Amino acid sequence: MPPIQKPQGTDDILPVQMPQWNWVLKNHARVAQAHGYRPIQTPVFEDTAMFERGIGAGTDVVDKEMYSFEMHDEKGGSTRLTLRPEGTPATLRAVLSNHLDQDRHPVRVHYAGPMFRHDKPQKGRRRQFNQVGIETIGERAPSLDSEVIEIGWRFFQSLGMSGVSLQLNTLGSLDDRTTYRAALIAYFTPMAESLCEDCRRRLEINPLRLLDCKTDAEAVAGAPQLTDSLSPESTDYFAEVQRRLTDAEIPFTLNPRLVRGLDYYAHTAFEFWHTSLQGAQNALGGGGRYDGLAEVLGFPATPGVGYAIGVERCLLVLEDSDALPGGQPDAEVVVSSIGVAAVAAAADVARRLRGTGHRVVLDDSERRLDKKIRNADRIGATIMVIIGDDEVRDGVAQVRNLEKRQQERVPLGKIEDALAEANAFHNDGRIDL
Ligand code: AMP
Repeated sequence: MPPIQKPQGTDDILPVQMPQWNWVLKNHARVAQAHGYRPIQTPVFEDTAMFERGIGAGTDVVDKEMYSFEMHDEKGGSTRLTLRPEGTPATLRAVLSNHLDQDRHPVRVHYAGPMFRHDKPQKGRRRQFNQVGIETIGERAPSLDSEVIEIGWRFFQSLGMSGVSLQLNTLGSLDDRTTYRAALIAYFTPMAESLCEDCRRRLEINPLRLLDCKTDAEAVAGAPQLTDSLSPESTDYFAEVQRRLTDAEIPFTLNPRLVRGLDYYAHTAFEFWHTSLQGAQNALGGGGRYDGLAEVLGFPATPGVGYAIGVERCLLVLEDSDALPGGQPDAEVVVSSIGVAAVAAAADVARRLRGTGHRVVLDDSERRLDKKIRNADRIGATIMVIIGDDEVRDGVAQVRNLEKRQQERVPLGKIEDALAEANAFHNDGRIDL
């Protein structure tokens, strides 16, 4: 029987990779919290309708990529559920259904977690991937759009990442988009026959999506620009966002073709690109203002702005970076018993040392001492506490400094002091999850 394989498009994140992962996640949390954002977590699966309504038919995510399933309950009813393809709708749902917007204006939250899209797997495009993100919910102001963009920018800086390019556009107000939609329909309808199958469908249900099409690039290049449909208020709003970014010394490129893959955006839309990422996978993250989303989900109209950034893609860009942290030792102390009589004493010493904050592996195997020492080296330990029959009889242990290759006899009651003197690396309470 062949061994079970991991599902296509998923990744194991192995212990050696975890410090880098945690470092990216911690940097994001730190930068977000420095701006007054609080952490939030929502379920990994949600009502399918939330994504159908919130992301919208005509998007690849909803039409092709959702992991959906139906669960039957004991009463004969059933619920359609979907593994979340992104974080924004659920975060908005959680904020509004828990009335967090009643005492914070706006609500500022950040999140991190796995997302699921049944896409064609390749480098930088996974079926389970991770995003970090922030959302600012409850107010519409250019200063909030620029704040959100700045946090993303500062996050990349905190990773020591260079070469990020900020692509910026405005989609105008929801009214402007209605005008623009009509202009697009008028432009594309006469050439509908020559468009690809996806685009013919998009023209019916979601003409803005046509601008994303790579197949019909020539037709798209001649399409009307959204800027022609902008109201004076929307133009002013966008100018203010740009002014604030300039004040913050954040460079940006205006990109009128940037529509984002999702459907509820208004006003500011942006993406962070990186040249080292290839082709369609060149975005590290993106976001924008989604003032229309709350109503689509059945809540009172509530403005919001946010972004999501892919953790895997950040790590791809950082692959060879010196900024990435190295691994930590599994434990700084290995307590080894030699012979059955020493097992209990070794276990007792290990427990006591953990109580004083050391990370300790107990090795009460029957392996030979030289093998135990080699294993302690692999673990990254600096100290070995060795207890054999003789030591049990005399109430002592051998404390071996693996770096200096020195060893001394220490009374069992004084092991903690000996380790403090040896300056054994002390666990500062930091746990890598
Ligand atoms: P989106 O929600 O599509 O705007 O995606 C935001 C970011 O999430 C992208 O820029 C990527 O960094 C990341 N991302 C989206 N889809 C995937 C995927 N299938 N695999 C890996 N990362 C992804």
